[in-house]
Amino acid sequence: MSQHASRLGGLRGLSHIPFGAPSHQRLRRVPRRPRRIAMLSVHTSPLHQPGTGDAGGMNVYIVELARRLAAIDIEVEIFTRATTAALPPAVELAPGVLVRHVDAGPYEGLAKEDLPAQLCAFTHGVMQAWAGHRPGHYDLVHSHYWLSGHVGWLAAERWGVPLVHAMHTMAKVKNAALAAGDTPEPAARVIGEQQIVRAADRLIANTVEEAEELVRHYEAARDLVAVVHPGVNLDRFRPADGRAAARARLGLPADALIPLFAGRIQPLKAPDILLHAVAHLLEEDPSLRERMVVPVVGGPSGSGLAKPEGLHKLAARLGICDVVRFRPPCAQDELADWYRAASVLVMPSYSESFGLVAIEAQACGTSVVAASVGGLPVAVRDGVSGTLIDGHDPADYARALRPFVQDPGRADRMGAAAARHAQSFGWDTAAAATAEVYTEAMRERRRLRSAHG
Ligand code: UDP
Repeated sequence: MSQHASRLGGLRGLSHIPFGAPSHQRLRRVPRRPRRIAMLSVHTSPLHQPGTGDAGGMNVYIVELARRLAAIDIEVEIFTRATTAALPPAVELAPGVLVRHVDAGPYEGLAKEDLPAQLCAFTHGVMQAWAGHRPGHYDLVHSHYWLSGHVGWLAAERWGVPLVHAMHTMAKVKNAALAAGDTPEPAARVIGEQQIVRAADRLIANTVEEAEELVRHYEAARDLVAVVHPGVNLDRFRPADGRAAARARLGLPADALIPLFAGRIQPLKAPDILLHAVAHLLEEDPSLRERMVVPVVGGPSGSGLAKPEGLHKLAARLGICDVVRFRPPCAQDELADWYRAASVLVMPSYSESFGLVAIEAQACGTSVVAASVGGLPVAVRDGVSGTLIDGHDPADYARALRPFVQDPGRADRMGAAAARHAQSFGWDTAAAATAEVYTEAMRERRRLRSAHG
């Protein structure tokens, strides 16, 4: 059954009895625009430090989007799994944004792979929170990542409200571009994603390419997929007092070549390619060793957790331990200084649904050398705000870094263009576009209700 047909089928159900929905829910007037939404982030909390484990761009996305939605009078309640006993049931993240901790499974020691078995418990927690409110408390459900999509599927149907879903990453897309030896995503995830595509009223994709992937790999109905580019916090990520001042604050040499890697350390992100490229550059010009620093900011994640010391060992094997500096994940205010200090950010990823670090670095006045995959061709303007590279040959990355050695003014020149490019990616724009998707989903509900009810 096509996505559209199944969705209509589900909605046709509304005219008789959607499973379990109380009659007052069915008869409730659907408002034009949501006043309050339930946002679901089952496997990772917006309160976690991004840059390691399960916390990354999606956490940042949810925090920034929720804040901006609240600023335009759409209250947001974010449901996430409680991961320590000490957490209060609800925490105010910002005015109009509440994080609700749901008990589902043990607090610690539960891997993301084990979470499908906890979805029922999680859904129970969401339903309990809802049951304590007046009918119509939530006008819409916005789920993030496939695990949340499954909870959202049931909650939205039970509450008689639209389900808007964002995949963030897709199993089929990841599996089609695995790093050598990396573990593929399981078939159960593919099936789960397929089910959500059928159930959702609207899908939000980061880029046109992601929208096409939803259509190609998951048979999403084209007219139900909306493209909303993620944003960047332009107050936090800005050039500020410049490269030299940031280097001084971080204790980095003023005249060094500094290619930076920032993000979760896993084969998918390919920090190893940067290390190989650096080894190439040093082989060609050993004198560079005296004026080169390669910071790697972030912690192990995903399949990278199996060998957390792998990158250190590679640096040792390549004989470049003296130039590579591993730093643990840090708060975004400090990360902004790493971006400002760098000559260039390097992102050799195998797949990337958008790549927030690329846009953050540019907003700080630092250009990007990136693999031409996923959202990166949108985040980086090739030849203007950075360089896009086809494939993953370290020699190509070394070639893209060489001009920064030969022309010390390049970092500032490209960086200025990068900062200009990043200006068009504010979160206010992203939140307004997302609110428009919500409004459309609700309008469609009203239309279908009046046609069938
Ligand atoms: N990040 C951070 N501290 C770090 C490293 C990364 O706060 O030490 C944040 C970074 O600012 C970015 C996010 O983690 O917003 C990574 O997002 P991206 O889209 O680049 O990658 P993902 O984690 O989604 O794969």
